[in-house]
Amino acid sequence: MLTIKKSGWNLDNSYAKLPNIFFTKQHPEPVRSPKLVIYNESLAKTLGFTSEILQDHEGVEVFAGNKIPEGAEPLAQAYAGHQFGHFNMLGDGRAVLISEHITPTDERFDIQLKGSGRTPYSRGGDGRAALGPMLREYIMSESMHALGIPTTRSLAVVTTGEEIIRETILPGAILTRVAASHMRVGTFQFAAQWGEIEDLKKLADYAIQRHFPDIDLDDNRYLSLLKGVIRRQASLITKWQLVGFIHGVMNTDNMTISGETIDYGPCAFMDTYDPMTVFSSIDRQGRYAYGNQPSIGGWNLARFAESLLPLLHGDQDKAVEIAQQELSNFSELFKANWISGMRAKLGLFNEEKEDETLFESLLNLMHTFKADFTNTFRSLTMNKLLDGDLYSSTEFLQWKELWEARRKRQEETIEESERLMQSSNPAVIPRNHRVEEALEAAVERGDFSVMERLLTALSNPYEYTQEKADYCTLPPDSDRPYRTYCGT
Ligand code: AMP
Ligand code: MG
Repeated sequence: MLTIKKSGWNLDNSYAKLPNIFFTKQHPEPVRSPKLVIYNESLAKTLGFTSEILQDHEGVEVFAGNKIPEGAEPLAQAYAGHQFGHFNMLGDGRAVLISEHITPTDERFDIQLKGSGRTPYSRGGDGRAALGPMLREYIMSESMHALGIPTTRSLAVVTTGEEIIRETILPGAILTRVAASHMRVGTFQFAAQWGEIEDLKKLADYAIQRHFPDIDLDDNRYLSLLKGVIRRQASLITKWQLVGFIHGVMNTDNMTISGETIDYGPCAFMDTYDPMTVFSSIDRQGRYAYGNQPSIGGWNLARFAESLLPLLHGDQDKAVEIAQQELSNFSELFKANWISGMRAKLGLFNEEKEDETLFESLLNLMHTFKADFTNTFRSLTMNKLLDGDLYSSTEFLQWKELWEARRKRQEETIEESERLMQSSNPAVIPRNHRVEEALEAAVERGDFSVMERLLTALSNPYEYTQEKADYCTLPPDSDRPYRTYCGT
């Protein structure tokens, strides 16, 4: 095995100690001529990687999968998943977990290469990834992180010097993905479907130890695990809804146990407010439309609960009853999170019974007048009416009076209310046409400066400056409807 010099790696291979049905030991397939095109210095720093990691080209070789850190036991994970409602055996078809890494503050992260070559789970795929989609994942995931939304992160992208064949020939690339873990609802579905009860138990114990250490001694620890995942997903999906993020492919293999957003294939931020908004080219029925995300979250959690049934109670009927009881909390949890998130977006600290009606009527007006989601809240935050049919309508002006009166019925000052709004309504999101512009410059012309500037703007999304305003302009009509593609 090739080794690398000390560069801050503090690795461990706890996943490799799980029963061996859960993975296949697998090295990345070496690539011809790797070149680092983007590196996340600030993430590297929090992980405790020193700048030595990039010396002598060795770090680049590691991020390309050509060299393996000493002591690592790379593996591809097995999992299953409901894709658009259909159950399939899946697994890391184009990714390899290099190892886990323990940071100086004792946090454990998976360091995974995506686009690292074929594995036993590749099915018909080539195991590779194209530069455009890997840079897109980098931009979207780092933007989500800066917005304060739990997510997997992006440490580096290298080009491989190899071409990959899609509809056209594209430059190949590998993304280094950093995640609290890569355990998914689909990992539990895999265990329930193809493992023994002992395997399922070991997976659940591992998930508890890694993500919910506080429930370790609970009476029914597996019920506590279910509760914990439901709580985290309710919180995560609320955060998506509040910024207009559309995941696009909420299959059960793309829903984590940790509560982090994962899989940035076809995701995009909504511009014009419409609950039925879908960007993904393959989502023809609108299953994963913006407005469906909470209910799909609930559906996926029901699949998680089903997988846990044998651990919840020895008696199947009792287990089902327990699971159903727990699942029924999801929509209430979501609703409560959403209402408190909307209060913050509108600068409200106290609670009034009619608040939900106030929120709904604003959203209805945004829908009717085809208002931009982010810019509407930005406009209210800046207390400045923008151009557009919404702002000149009497209905909106009447709503605004109601809201202003409501804002006065609290102890906090208008300044405090404005500060709350600023920290709850992003001044900038990764707008689709801006992301495309950055990707085009990088992929077509090798010019990464457009992407660097976009990343800088996105790194501080709650800062209201002129520079941010420049990133808020809407796309020309010719750029619509915007379409995204997955599995690329
Ligand atoms: P996704 O749509 O990205 O969630 O991927 C679904 C499944 O397809 C996962 O098991 C991936 O590992 C696999 N997959 C996607 N693209 C490829 C590829 N190019 N080669 C092999 N497997 C792939
Ligand atoms: Mg996936």
